[in-house]
Amino acid sequence: MKIFRSIKKQQQYSFKEKCKGRVIGFVPTMGFLHKGHLSLIDKAKELSNRVIVSIFVNPLQFAPNEDYREYPRDEKRDLKLLEEKGVDTVLIPELNEMYPNGFETYVEVSKLSKDYCGRSRPLFFRGVATIVLKLFNTVQPDLAVFGEKDYQQYIIIKRMSRDLNLPIFVIPSPIVREEDGLAMSSRNLYLTPSERKEAPVLYESMRRVKELASKGERNVKNLKKEMVKFIESKKYPRIDYIEFVDPENLKRAKILQGPTRILLAVWIGKARLIDNMEV
Ligand code: AMP
Repeated sequence: MKIFRSIKKQQQYSFKEKCKGRVIGFVPTMGFLHKGHLSLIDKAKELSNRVIVSIFVNPLQFAPNEDYREYPRDEKRDLKLLEEKGVDTVLIPELNEMYPNGFETYVEVSKLSKDYCGRSRPLFFRGVATIVLKLFNTVQPDLAVFGEKDYQQYIIIKRMSRDLNLPIFVIPSPIVREEDGLAMSSRNLYLTPSERKEAPVLYESMRRVKELASKGERNVKNLKKEMVKFIESKKYPRIDYIEFVDPENLKRAKILQGPTRILLAVWIGKARLIDNMEV
C-alpha cells in the first residue's frame, strides 16, 4: 500500500494509473475509521480497479467553537485497517500544503448549504465542498463514494460535481449501523455510557415514523410531532432539527407522497449526532 503525503506525488501517481487505463475509485475520510468507512471502500473496490482513500481532518469545516482539536485521530490504526482492506493508496496531505499562507479560494453550493445542518453550522458545507474539490483535483478519480450517513453532504457534492462539470461519478453508499441501530460515527466516542444507551433513539424515532406511514399517516406535521414527543421522552437528547425532505433537491415535504427522506440532528451530551432514513 502506497502512502502519499505530498499532493504532487499523488497527482503524478494518479496520472500514471489513468494513462494505463485504470479506473480510480476514491473515498475521502477524516480518519478514525470504522465499518461505515470500510463499507465505502468495498463499494469503491467493486466499481474501480485502483482504490485511493484520503485521511484529512479538514479545519475549514470546523467552526472555532467546534471539535477540530479533539476530533479523534489514530493514523497507525487507520493504516492497518486500510492495508487489511487491500486499499492501493492512502493520501494523507500535510495541512500547510493543503492550506498554504494566503489561501482564499472557496467553493460554495449556495442554497443547499444554508438549510438543515447549514443552519447551526453556517460555514460547514463551504469547508466540505472546498476540501472535496481540492481532494478531487489531487486524486483525479473517476468515481468517488460518499456515505448516505451525511445525506445533505452527499447531495451537495453531487450538485457541485454537476454544476462544475467534474468528470467524476458521485456514488452513494448506505448507512452502516451498530446492532442497536445507532449510525456508526467517529463522534460516537464522545458519548458517555449512559448517553450511548439512549443514542439509538434517533434510529428508533425514524423507524416509528416508517411504521405510522405504512399504516396510512401521511401528514408530516403529525409524524414530526410523534418524533419530537418520543425523542423528548428521553433524558439526554436535545433536538437540533427534524425535517422531511425530497431526497433529490432537499425541499421540505408537507405530505408523504413519493420518496421522502427524514433528516435529523440531535445533541446527546457533547455529541451532535445526525441520521436520516427514507420513508
Ligand atoms: P468522515 O470521516 O466522518 O468525514 O466520513 C467519511 C465518509 O464516510 C463520508 O462519506 C461519510 O458519509 C461516510 N460515513 C461515515 N459514517 C458512515 C456510516 N455509518 N455509514 C456509511 N457511511 C459513513
